[in-house]
Amino acid sequence: MSTVELNDSKKLTDQDQEHLWHAMSRHTEGSSPMIAKSGEGSWFTDMDGNRYLDGVSGLWCLNLGHGRKEIAEAAAEQMMQLSYFPLTLSHAPAIKLSAKISELLGDSYKTFFSNSGSEANETAFKIARQYHNQNGNPGKYKFISRYRAYHGSTLGALSATAQANRRVKYDPGMPGFLHVPPPYSYRCPFGEDVKDCDKVAADMIDQVIQWEGAETVAAVIMEPFISGGGVIIPSPEYLQRVAQICKKHDILLIMDEVVSGFGRTGKMFGFMHSEGVQPDIVTMAKGLTSGYLPLGATAVHSRIYEKFKEQGTDNHFRHVSTYGGHPASCAVALKNIEIIERENIVSRVEVLGESILSSLKDLQTHKNVGEVRSAGFLYGIEMVEDKETKQPASDQLMAKIIALCKEKGLIIGRNGDTVPGFNNVLIIAPPLSSTEEDLKFVVKTVQRAFKEI
Ligand code: PLP
Repeated sequence: MSTVELNDSKKLTDQDQEHLWHAMSRHTEGSSPMIAKSGEGSWFTDMDGNRYLDGVSGLWCLNLGHGRKEIAEAAAEQMMQLSYFPLTLSHAPAIKLSAKISELLGDSYKTFFSNSGSEANETAFKIARQYHNQNGNPGKYKFISRYRAYHGSTLGALSATAQANRRVKYDPGMPGFLHVPPPYSYRCPFGEDVKDCDKVAADMIDQVIQWEGAETVAAVIMEPFISGGGVIIPSPEYLQRVAQICKKHDILLIMDEVVSGFGRTGKMFGFMHSEGVQPDIVTMAKGLTSGYLPLGATAVHSRIYEKFKEQGTDNHFRHVSTYGGHPASCAVALKNIEIIERENIVSRVEVLGESILSSLKDLQTHKNVGEVRSAGFLYGIEMVEDKETKQPASDQLMAKIIALCKEKGLIIGRNGDTVPGFNNVLIIAPPLSSTEEDLKFVVKTVQRAFKEI
């Protein structure tokens, strides 16, 4: 395609409207989508030359921002050296990356590669079922996840996703997926007077396991902090308790670190906020490559893998992904991790994350702000119509504040189809490499937008 065609804003808009089916498209006839043209650091420029700070890192993946030349070079070099090779056999970038992931997880893990977060979770489900099936527990097939959680768009991952509006047109989901209440202190599902909502929420998992029969449950899947479902941040003890409950019942703990992995929450992985927790399976995508190329990963603790090995070759994991662990994607992931370490991104997020939080917390005096929550560079502002009743903010109010921020050059998001009427959490998740000036701009812009509503 010629540069002229790529720069023809009107033509691109027309073709977009005619041929491109957008993710989460609401078919708003006649409204032009924003077409991005270029990016630099935390900023991108659209076809009309408007510049925006991407306060949601694309889809929470662009952790190192746009334009990292050394990442592009790592991909190009790898493509020239070995353009493709399947992981039914092996290649150096995948070997090196699997070793690096194990090192970062702080224990011995084997990694199975795929292309996305959804696939990483599907892979985890199949491994968990086969693990129990081959170890004398064929009845252990159920998965427990939490209401409001998002675990992906494919049918298994969507079945673990407990967000009503996202599922309704595709239900019934797969059999064997159960949901429990989240540790959501601001609107505690067990009652407003409950003192320790996190503890009750963890104990509810124990209770459900007993009601269902532990001999029927394969795994619990959860994010360390529910991100897309409204930034729900339990205390570190919640996950410790869940891990103990899983262990007690011989149930695998799958940590979905698709959003939280690689520094987003101020630790390399979100589960690391809870001392002593070492998940059986950790799934990752997004921040693994900072979005430069697609890659998903399912890291499985060696004690699980060893059981597969013991069972002999006839009982191997019958799963394959043509592009999973593509050499170029793995080379990009290795470079991405090298930069995260070299630039001390994780501790930077930990420190700066706290100072941004204290500025954003000031918004809690605003009549429409119920609560501001965060972990690292993942912020949620729960919007209400009324602080007393906690009635969720209307769609109009949510749209207004997002539009005001956009007008001022900042893109922010909100929780998706979580619970009908409860899509009332603004989400801010800037690139982890944002400069201090960028971060000041984020805070100032949000504050200015709130002054105007
Ligand atoms: N898990 C979590 C927590 C997510 O937020 C997402 C995507 O947003 C996924 C899984 C699915 O990842 P993907 O869109 O790469 O399939």
